This record gives sequence, structure tokens and C-alpha cells, in this order.
Amino acid sequence: MVAETVKHFHERSISNPDSFWSEQAQLIHWEKPFEQVLDYSKPPFARWFVGGKTNLCYNAIDRHLKDRPDQNALIYISTETGAEKNYTFRELHAEVNRFAAVLKSLGVGKGDRVIIYMPMIPEAAFAMYACARIGAIHSVVFGGFASQSLATRIDDAKPKVLVTADAGMRSGKSVPYKHLVDEACSLAQMPPKNVLIINRGLDAGMPITAGRDVDYATARNAVGEVQVPVEWLESSDPSYILYTSGTTGKPKGVQRDTGGYAVALAASMKHIYCGNAGEAMFTTSDIGWVVGHSYIVYAPLLAGMATILYEGLPIRPDAGIWWKIVEQHKVSVMFSSPTAVRVLKKQDPKYLSQYNLKSLRYLFLAGEPLDEPTAKWISDSLGVPVVDNYWQTETGWPILSAMLGVENTPRKYGSPSFPVYGFNVALFDESTGLEVEADQKGVLGIVPPLPPGCLSTVWGDDARFVSTYFSLLKDRKVYSSFDWGIRDHDGYYFILGRTDDVINVAGHRLGTREIEEAISGHANIAEVAVVGIEDKLKGQVPVAFAVPKNASLLVDAAAHRAFEKEVMDTVDKSLGAIARPARVYFVTLLPKTRSGKLLRRSIQALAEGRDPGDLTTLDDATSLQQIRAALEQHLR
Ligand code: ATP
Ligand code: MG
Repeated sequence: MVAETVKHFHERSISNPDSFWSEQAQLIHWEKPFEQVLDYSKPPFARWFVGGKTNLCYNAIDRHLKDRPDQNALIYISTETGAEKNYTFRELHAEVNRFAAVLKSLGVGKGDRVIIYMPMIPEAAFAMYACARIGAIHSVVFGGFASQSLATRIDDAKPKVLVTADAGMRSGKSVPYKHLVDEACSLAQMPPKNVLIINRGLDAGMPITAGRDVDYATARNAVGEVQVPVEWLESSDPSYILYTSGTTGKPKGVQRDTGGYAVALAASMKHIYCGNAGEAMFTTSDIGWVVGHSYIVYAPLLAGMATILYEGLPIRPDAGIWWKIVEQHKVSVMFSSPTAVRVLKKQDPKYLSQYNLKSLRYLFLAGEPLDEPTAKWISDSLGVPVVDNYWQTETGWPILSAMLGVENTPRKYGSPSFPVYGFNVALFDESTGLEVEADQKGVLGIVPPLPPGCLSTVWGDDARFVSTYFSLLKDRKVYSSFDWGIRDHDGYYFILGRTDDVINVAGHRLGTREIEEAISGHANIAEVAVVGIEDKLKGQVPVAFAVPKNASLLVDAAAHRAFEKEVMDTVDKSLGAIARPARVYFVTLLPKTRSGKLLRRSIQALAEGRDPGDLTTLDDATSLQQIRAALEQHLR
């Protein structure tokens, strides 16, 4: 048989979704077969695999008990506590059953919400699988969020139980969780009935609220070795709620279904990530983010792979730790983010060549624009192909990517390649509502129905789902990604930045991403953020905040000015003088969210002398002080 091209594969998914997706649906177990592939009678709401009954936990774990009970399913490595523990499918099954029994004993059942506010420990994953098993809806809140953010999510999700730990660990220091939970519960209008605590023994002074708090170890012993039957769910029953990062404002509760998500993930493991049963996948995200949900917790197991749950930093004990893990566990598929790679880029490159990476087929990166220099640097240093994928919390899996399981298409640096099967992607001119030609910038939209796995609605707010995501065009319902993109003549897409990150310089629309990419081309720049600030003459001008690789060269004001000019020249050369930043400031750290996304909005606010806004997700507060200091120094 002649292999199918990606182009044909995609076309088939759009022109005949019923046959395409019923074929993909065979990758998972259906307790009751579906009667209809897609119900799109209430656009833009799509229901996939109507009438079918399935279960995510069953597909991830139970299904493998027959063929691979003694293969690893979950490999836990903590460089924070030194703990390492492997769970086979059989052992994982036993733990998840016990966790499910504990949740049931607290009155949790189908449709109830459970908030999981946890560090990266195995029990966090057990809790997620256990919820899926009994049909409860989990909502994992990233452990770095402060109590106010947690309280907001509690009030939106109204959980029956909140699962937490006494503490997490970061960079060798314990980070208490439980007292933040207590604070959140007192701030919330609708606090949970019970708080289930995994006590790691890291916080001796942990307060306990009698009657509400439950110790997991005690409850686990009480239920014993127990089997909890799988709750077979309707395909469109919700599996979880996940709040978006909130980079652009109030977080939205992305609601995911069950069957569509399972099929989308299973298919992505085959066509995009090329992972095979019996191998190991290492995703360096956190279970609090969508990448963690999809590619730490669910997808690898759906494919019969072992997943690696890593608690720790990429540079501790040294910058070789990830590659050591790859060697040790013969990882074949790895998934990380450009931000993490940029962190490694600042370290000694020797760490990248100390380990045997023969098992590693691909390194996938997503979450932020992947600039050409970073992509080239990591793929050359590792000798492993790098694949950029573009997606969102809302979609749950890639919108744009190479699909190497279908066809080995060449990659272009800076581009996440093509629209993925199921996603009818187009670039739109916001003012005319028309699709733009090749080489023209436009807002990346998805013509609905959204494929399986994407959000089915905003939790508890159907109207917000429609008004937020489907108001790109006046007379036609098209999903907006709120990102700008461009497609070249070969059909490759490039993401230029978020719609509100586009700068209007004297009538020219420039993506901050384009300018950042140009600046990253300078050999002594590790990282950069560009924002547009108000200018009386030109409307807006770009201003750059750059992190030099070697700051020791910037000895005095003259060296600063010379380097600034070099950076400006780099932009002139690649984009033209129109894109040249009005100023280039040098800092050692950029403000980012805990998920590694640049807080351009806050930088811009500071540069325009405004309040930087909601900073609850800010990773390191000194980064903003540096921006302030850099700006002040200039004014003096
Ligand atoms: P919020 O929607 O609450 O503001 P967020 O958009 O930061 O939060 P996510 O859903 O985690 O939260 O991030 C998705 C966004 O990340 C995309 O819309 C895009 O802007 C960016 N992104 C993700 N992957 C890529 C990529 N490969 N290239 C460029 N940008 C990317
Ligand atoms: Mg978003």
C-alpha cells in the first residue's frame, strides 16, 4: 500500500469526518459502541461518539492488564527528595482502585468535582485516574497558584473534595501547600466538604481542621486492597475542567468530554508522537497544565507506554538531569517547552553530550513560540529531531504539527508545520472577515466543528463559550485562537504572537514574535521579550528586554550602548528599520508565568508607566523589579 500523505490524511478528516473519526475511535475500548460519530445539531457545540460508553481510566490502565501487567506504567523520579519509584500497570491499577475507594468513601460519585492541588507526586496522578474511574470530574489547579487563585477556582468548580499534600519541594526547599488550601477554603464561598491530604512529612507544623481534613494514608489503609468498578460514561460526559493559564485575563474553565478526548489522545500518540506500547515517554510539564494532563497523565498510558513523572528542576543537580533520565529509562518520546530549552541554553553545553540518547526519536516542544536559533541549538546539540507543536488548553492536543507517524515531512525552523487532521484551520483578516492569501498575516481560526478532544464548553457557562471563542467574524461562527499567524507558499504555518501582542507602528502591523525572533538571531542573546508601547508620533513603538548570554561584556554605559546598537542592527537586517526597537534594555531574567509564558502584558504596562495587573502566576518577582530598574535607569 502506498503511504498516505499528510495532505490527503488531513483532507479526508475534514471532508469525511464520520469515517475518519470512526476509524480513529477503534484505538480505544468502547464498553458500548457509539451510534453516531458526530452530533452537530446545536452549533458550535459538538458532541462526539454519541451513544458510546467508555472510561478514560479503563483505557489508560485496566485495558493493559492482559498484555502488559508487569511493564512499567508510571515512573516517578524526584530530584527534590531523591525518591524514585516505578509502578507497573498492575501496581498502578491497585493504587488507583484504592484511591477511588477513598474518594467514594467521602461521598464522591459521578459528576462530582474534585479539585487536585498537588505537587508532582504519584498520588496526584492516582487522584486523577481515580476520578476518571468513578466518573468524578477532576480540576487540577497548578500548585504554584496562591490561595486567592485557588479560591476563585473552588467557587467556580464547587468541588466536594479537595486533594492536596502537606508540601511541595522546589529547588531543595519545601513549599507548604496545606496552609494555602486552608486560606483558600476560608476565602471561598463554596469550600469543599473534605480536604484529603497526602502527608509527605515535609511540614511538621501542618494545621489540621478536625471533621474536614482526612489523612490519605489512614484512609487508604482503611479501604484495603479493594476493587472499584469502572463507571461507564457517555462519551460526552465531562472528564475534567482545566482553567486556562490566565495570561490574558480571567481564567476560563475548559470542559473536556470523555470519549472524544480519549480518541484524540490515542490517535495523536500514533500519528503525531509516534510512541509505541512498551516504550517510555517523558513530558517535562506539570500535571497542573494541559500538556501535563494530556501527555503525562493520559496519552502515554492510552498507548501502552510508561510515563515519567518528574518532580524537580531541569538544572538540578545539574543541567544533564533530563538526559540522564532519557538514558536510564530508554525514553523514546520526549515533550518539553521552548522556555525550558532556553533555560538549558544558558548552561554549559557539555551536559547535552554526556548521555546516550540513542533511544530518543523526537523531542516535541510546545507552549510558546519556538524561535529558529533555539530549535537549531537544541536539535544540533542533542542530535535529535525537534518538532514544534502549537496548541492551547482549549484544544487539548495539537492544532498545528508535523505528523511524522503519517508522513515524514521536512520541518522548517520557526514553524509548527501544518494543520493537524480534524482541525479545519484558516487565517482570517479581522476587518474583512475573508481568508488571507499565502504570505499574508491573519488571525488563526478553526472552522467548526472542533475535532474530538477540544473543549466542549466553558464550565457552567455555555454563553461564554460562544461569545468568547466564536466572535471572530460577524456573520459566521469561527473559533478564534487569538493568535496571529502566516502561511507560506508550501503550506507551513508560523505563529506570530497573540492578537493583542501585535504592534501597530505607523500603520504597519508587526508581531512581537517576529521582532523577538530577529533579536534571538544575535549570538549573544539568550532570550528576549518585545512589547509595543505608546508613541505620540507612530502610534506604537517596539521596545525590547533582552537577556544576554554573557552579561559580563556589559561593563559600562558605553558597552551597553554598543550592544544595544548591535541588537538594533540585527533587527534592521532581518526585518527592516520599521521593526527596529526604540530601546533595548538588558536584564538577567524575564517575567514569566509559572507555566513559562512571557508576561508581555505586565512588561508593557510597566513600560507605559501603568500597573502591571494580576501577578498571581508570576514565577519570580525579581524579574519585574529588573524591568522597573532598567526603565528607571534609562529615565535618569
Ligand atoms: P489564557 O488563555 O488564560 O490567557 P494561555 O493562552 O497562556 O492562557 P495556554 O492555553 O496554555 O494558556 O496557551 C496557549 C497559547 O500558547 C497559544 O494560544 C499560543 O499563544 C501559545 N503557544 C502554544 N504553543 C505554541 C507554539 N508552538 N508556537 C507559538 N505559540 C504557541
Ligand atoms: Mg489562551
